[in-house]
Amino acid sequence: MSQDIFVVIEHLRGKVADISYVMLAAARVIAQATGGQVVAALLGHNAQELAGNLAADRVLYVEHPALADFTSAAYQTVLESLLREHAPRAALLGDTSIGGDVAAWLAARLSWPLVSSCRSVSAEGAVIRFVSQTCGGKIMAEGDLPGPCALVMIVPGGYKPEQGQSAQTPQVTSAAAPPLEGLRVAVDNYVEPDTSDVDISREPILVSVGRGIQTLDSIGLVEELARALGCPVCASRPIVDQGWLPTTRLVGKSGKVVKPRLYLALGISGAPEHVEGMGESEMIIAVNTDPAAPIFNVAKYGATVDLFDLAPALTEKIQEARRQRGTHHGAASS
Ligand SMILES: Cc1cc2nc3c(=O)[nH]c(=O)nc-3n(C[C@H](O)[C@H](O)[C@H](O)COP(=O)(O)OP(=O)(O)OC[C@H]3O[C@@H](n4cnc5c(N)ncnc54)[C@H](O)[C@@H]3O)c2cc1C
Repeated sequence: MSQDIFVVIEHLRGKVADISYVMLAAARVIAQATGGQVVAALLGHNAQELAGNLAADRVLYVEHPALADFTSAAYQTVLESLLREHAPRAALLGDTSIGGDVAAWLAARLSWPLVSSCRSVSAEGAVIRFVSQTCGGKIMAEGDLPGPCALVMIVPGGYKPEQGQSAQTPQVTSAAAPPLEGLRVAVDNYVEPDTSDVDISREPILVSVGRGIQTLDSIGLVEELARALGCPVCASRPIVDQGWLPTTRLVGKSGKVVKPRLYLALGISGAPEHVEGMGESEMIIAVNTDPAAPIFNVAKYGATVDLFDLAPALTEKIQEARRQRGTHHGAASS
């Protein structure tokens, strides 16, 4: 067993996912307490250059054609072998679709405890504390990280991705992949997302609507507001599941990650799966009648008012201001 902290790096189509940097930032906090190193476990095929800006003390790079794209089977096999060999104090995985596909499996195979939905970590002497958000983000559970080894799934929001980036390339060591023949899962084909609709991940302003809107007919209120602001409407999952907006407008774990300058969230509770897709927005303004809604944990400004009162009033104010300034936005993208 070592005092090192492993971070399983997530990447897609040649780009390191922000959650990897968030995990590196969390790992640094733990490593400072244990006195160990932050070790990035990078799995891939011709992907060594992705190590470039990882804020790790060293990178263990596992190269294999079967690791060209993420598959649960290949990652599980490689990670089990790496973690058995190195037995770090903790191994951090994203609380994401990828992390979710391997973390519980690893916990069962290695008989290590698993802390999920972990938002932040701290050290009190040798004791490592974690804060885990449960019940859709409404409850923050605190505890001591069990030992001697543990798996931790990290949600976004506790650390800025920049905290896990470095201008200095870390030392990269190659680690041999275990046999990866005959795996039961393989990537057949990568399907690019639908590009016929507006790309919400590139928009500087987004008006986002959640279940608080209650009916399909009421979406018009939000569309009016978006038209006035000259931006598209996006949504949380219940709205897309109902078929009220297309999947191209879904923000979150199963939708798109957006980072607009302004994200106006109307009637959205702020579940972790939603925050995963918008938590890094420059400014979040939340409107929710429930003062305990977790969306207020990530919002810069919030209003505990009824969106049915606020949306039309705000639309009118914006239209009036635009009329005075002689500017007008069309309906093209909303
Ligand atoms: C594997 C998995 C993947 C998921 N992926 C996603 C994803 O990609 N994106 C996503 O969004 N969710 C995702 N979810 C679902 C997620 O867990 C939540 O269920 C969802 O985000 C809740 O959407 P909501 O906030 O619109 O609804 P709710 O949680 O029901 O919240 C509605 C909010 O509206 C407020 N409200 C009600 N009336 C008003 C009013 N008149 N004015 C103002 N506020 C009002 C309420 O106080 C409440 O907070 C996923 C879940 C799982 C398990």
